[in-house]
Amino acid sequence: MGKRAKKTLRPEPCAQPRESKDARSPIALYIHWPFCKSKCPYCDFNSHVRASIDEARWRTALLRDLEHYAGLTGRRAVTSIFFGGGTPSLMTAETVASVLERAAALWPFEPGVEITLEANPTSVEAARFRDFRSAGVTRVSLGVQALEDGALKFLGRGHDVKEALSALEVARQTFERFSFDLIYARPGQTAASWERELDRAIALAGEHLSVYQLTIEPGTAFAPAHARGDFALPDEETQAALYETTVARLEAAGLPAYEISNHARPGAECRHNLVYWRYGDYLGVGPGAHGRLTLDGARVATRQHRAPETWLEAVERQGHGGAEPAALTPREQRDEFLMMGLRLAEGIPRARFRERLGLDLEAALDPGRVAALAEAGFLELDATRIAATSAGRQRLNAVLARLLE
Ligand code: SF4
Repeated sequence: MGKRAKKTLRPEPCAQPRESKDARSPIALYIHWPFCKSKCPYCDFNSHVRASIDEARWRTALLRDLEHYAGLTGRRAVTSIFFGGGTPSLMTAETVASVLERAAALWPFEPGVEITLEANPTSVEAARFRDFRSAGVTRVSLGVQALEDGALKFLGRGHDVKEALSALEVARQTFERFSFDLIYARPGQTAASWERELDRAIALAGEHLSVYQLTIEPGTAFAPAHARGDFALPDEETQAALYETTVARLEAAGLPAYEISNHARPGAECRHNLVYWRYGDYLGVGPGAHGRLTLDGARVATRQHRAPETWLEAVERQGHGGAEPAALTPREQRDEFLMMGLRLAEGIPRARFRERLGLDLEAALDPGRVAALAEAGFLELDATRIAATSAGRQRLNAVLARLLE
């Protein structure tokens, strides 16, 4: 796809602040726990290994940060809470319970609020599942990543298949809902071997499965190893075949892709992540966490210090770990909305786009580029929405570069 070029949005929308429904709609709450036992070689998340952690100090800081942001949002209802990381299953259940109790004191929870915790499937962490459940967690997302011991070793995981299977069983018995992650496009993987692994995963799955393609990210341990030629990823054609196998196999099993990497029985989607992809309002608490909020008619971004100790000291010094919220320009909002919404199979409803940005899709995008992408089979539009096709979602970065240039 072509080179990126600056282009003015036509016409410049939203000159006057508008009061949208978002200022009153429920918010999602993200809590970041930045610590892991060890750093996986493919991981570029904000995760860190420390010899010891003063958990009581961290707990106090998370509670102060929550209180600060509650002052910004007011008492809007909370629809979902997500403990991500890092490895939040390394937190004690006491810390999880404290965060949930304080959140419940600061915001009303919607009935049936979804409370997810990411967990690694080790026996130590599975032994805490019952306590997490008692603390209020309703859903776990397990980082299983592979169902082959050799692949788990390559991915630097701290568990083997046997341990993952027993953690999955404990999760199934303990929580109302659970999901697990898999990573594909690993070295040497073929469509046939991946199909066998996927079939095994389907037999183990509940109503939700996340399946990510392995990519080599700068700054990870895999980056120099891959550059040295220590291992090679499957070629592009094989990667495309693996993606198509994933989509077809899971759809046939009743778990269609509702997002590029996420598959669920209809109705069992991760409600928290849907808030991001539908470009709703959410709050991020903890190191490196981001938020998007509608405040006084303006859409603002909140952002927290990324380094754990810098964040902790900032909270202790000033009562929160972030910078001042920054207003997003209409163009930034348009770009973010499309980057998020086109990840979803449902796409972006025209009415929602208009409500958020104050203009129609046609006025916000270059009609020639939209038509060309639709003609090429990467976008589909009708009277109610715009969406990326399955082929478009497979190469979404290139589609967005063309659409937003
Ligand atoms: S456990 Fe998860 S967050 Fe931690 S290093 Fe591994 S992939 Fe990254």
